Amino acid sequence: AYQPLDQVSLLHERRTHFAGNLRLSYREPCTFLRGWRHYLFDEYGQTYLDAYNNVPHVGHAHPRIQAVAAQQLRLLNTNTRYLHPAQIAFAHELLAKLPPSLSVCFFVNSGSEANELALRLARTYTGGHDMITIDHGYHGHTTGAIAISAYKFNHPAGNGKPDWVEVVMAPDPYRGPYGHDGPRYAAEVDQAIERIATRGGKLAGFIAETFPSVAGQIIPPPGYLAAVYQRIRAAGGVCIADEVQTGLGRLGTHYWAFESQGVVPDIVVLGKPLGNGHPIGAVITTVEIARAFDNGLEFFSTFGGSTLSCVIGREVLRIIDEEGLMDNAHCVGQVLLTGLRDLQHRHPVISDVRGMGLFIGVELVTDRTTRTPATAAARYVRERLRAERILIGTEGPADNVLKIRPPLTFDLAATTVFLERLDAILGESFIARQGG
Ligand code: PMP
Repeated sequence: AYQPLDQVSLLHERRTHFAGNLRLSYREPCTFLRGWRHYLFDEYGQTYLDAYNNVPHVGHAHPRIQAVAAQQLRLLNTNTRYLHPAQIAFAHELLAKLPPSLSVCFFVNSGSEANELALRLARTYTGGHDMITIDHGYHGHTTGAIAISAYKFNHPAGNGKPDWVEVVMAPDPYRGPYGHDGPRYAAEVDQAIERIATRGGKLAGFIAETFPSVAGQIIPPPGYLAAVYQRIRAAGGVCIADEVQTGLGRLGTHYWAFESQGVVPDIVVLGKPLGNGHPIGAVITTVEIARAFDNGLEFFSTFGGSTLSCVIGREVLRIIDEEGLMDNAHCVGQVLLTGLRDLQHRHPVISDVRGMGLFIGVELVTDRTTRTPATAAARYVRERLRAERILIGTEGPADNVLKIRPPLTFDLAATTVFLERLDAILGESFIARQGG
């Protein structure tokens, strides 16, 4: 174990040796030395409730992950240039969760890398270059991924929208102009396709977080993706579903968010939760797209699909099933949503509660009529919960949406504590002064 440095020294060393834009959560940062299920423990052994982190999907420090990782590291960890049954076993279990048309896997190391590859697959298959994406979307930190992430390129310090990218509005039932009319949001894609044609471009595809998370934990209205996909395919493009945040049972009722929209993507992108903390990304696509990509240029990722990654990824998938974590997300998610809606009735600062399973957003406003974002209130709640040793995030273009997205082990006891503390904080005078 590390000899814990005091926080002042840790902060000083961090500022000296890392760039300033490597951001820390919270005004008063946390040092965590241990995790267990949906709990984290700081340098004093104090317990924090984790209602935020989606990477430890099956829970922090899961003993089965520890066991298979340790066993594999004792034997061998090598790459995809050699045969090993673990690669096949992982692929089989992953593909068993996907529609039959998605039958070819690529294993990489992160969500960003998976999106880079998805972009190359779409372009190679269609011969097009242009992409359509949703406003405020996020797909990763690499050059190609940033280029399709409106959240990044539209930032004042970003490089602006590349000319090969077209942005459509987020299908946000609370803030968008068309309410719950999914197909009306989708019709925006027609203009994007037209803009590409007008400037002599050629469409490669459409990419979106299936449920936009960075845009504010949005649940797209029914019929949205079906109408988008139909337009994209008619224009010769392919449809990419970034399921990094929404996949692997988080929604409770569906293993993948695209299923809840009744669509089958051409390319699915996975990351974060797939390795429960070990870096694994995956791209799954159709035989046709994979064949077009197999054009003589080798595909190789040194660590992608390593023996260790495959063993861990497979174990994550098994744990989700064997511990009933998707059902847990559904049951606990419903209790959490009901409790949050109850808080909404009592606290005017909460204007919208939305979510499925353990993918939840709580929108705060200063005035329910004008729907003015209560950014300061959201940040206050986040910091106050941290002081009560509960972790959440804030999200959305105005940073006024409480983001609740815990490990899928989150249980009823945790839900009760969370709701009680949130209720008390929402009653504090700072919130009332914000107009809530
Ligand atoms: N896509 C989505 C939807 C994400 O949320 C993220 C990470 N937050 C990424 C891609 C990028 O993944 P990574 O950080 O593993 O590169």
